[in-house]
Amino acid sequence: MITNPIADVVHCRFRRWIFPKGPVSDAHTPLLPAVIERILAPLFNLVFPQDCKVCAAPLRHARRVPVCDACLASPAPLTADYFCTQCRTPFLNEAPLDDHGVCGRCRSGLTGYDAAYSYGYYDGVLKDLIHLFKYARIETLGEPLGAFLRQALPLDQRFDLVVPVPLHWRRRLWRGFNQADLLARPLARRLGATVAPALERRRRTETQASLSPSERRTNVVGAFALRRGADVRGKRILLVDDVLTTGATVGAAASVLRQAGASHVAVLTLARVDRRPSWTSLARAIRDKNVHQPLTAKTKVP
Ligand SMILES: [Zn+2]
Ligand SMILES: [Zn+2]
Repeated sequence: MITNPIADVVHCRFRRWIFPKGPVSDAHTPLLPAVIERILAPLFNLVFPQDCKVCAAPLRHARRVPVCDACLASPAPLTADYFCTQCRTPFLNEAPLDDHGVCGRCRSGLTGYDAAYSYGYYDGVLKDLIHLFKYARIETLGEPLGAFLRQALPLDQRFDLVVPVPLHWRRRLWRGFNQADLLARPLARRLGATVAPALERRRRTETQASLSPSERRTNVVGAFALRRGADVRGKRILLVDDVLTTGATVGAAASVLRQAGASHVAVLTLARVDRRPSWTSLARAIRDKNVHQPLTAKTKVP
């Protein structure tokens, strides 16, 4: 084996492959075109079972999804003592909520959407699964993750169009797929709705992670536009994405749809970031070992 210190890769003398020395991250250029990787990876897993990508337990049977059953079953649905009945934002107490359980941002129409649903918190195994889906490009996770999405949606809700939140074309090209797109298509089939790529991302936004909530809202202003020829007038729309952080991105996308005449825009994500202080998350985690209370109404644990 020969190490090339300049290229920071390891050349194998017997095989004409080049492996990166460290873990593959977003910063690395993919070694195989994304489309070939997407086709080959599930086939490879069927022939050579690997360890679970989340907990590292050996996978005894060949399977398309390289994650064990225990990990796939472990993400818990959202729980909270107090939350907005409209945007489902969890709160420490009921002070921000009015008599109908609606928070100040929803009352003043600042969210941009009519309702928001998420399966779980962006934490633990659910976060790991989303990262594997999105960054390690394990597309076969789309099926189990899609099941979480369906569980998060109230049964009485009906939609005409399912709209995936678009990526900027450059990011989509680099990643090889839009995760929201993969989640939206099977979901729409189940709901009897139509997938409509009604939005386009006009400009590439800075990564939101390091920004404050107000900076995030400013960062996404004008980022979305209605795609030419899209007609959303009078339609009930379900906007799909993987993670809701502050709601700034989906809020900007929903505002474009509303301005274009949509009658109702709801947001559906796999996970949402719990922005309450960490000690409450700890208390919740301890309590939730015993009780899982689904986030379906304004509730208070005695
Ligand atoms: Zn596992
Ligand atoms: Zn709200």
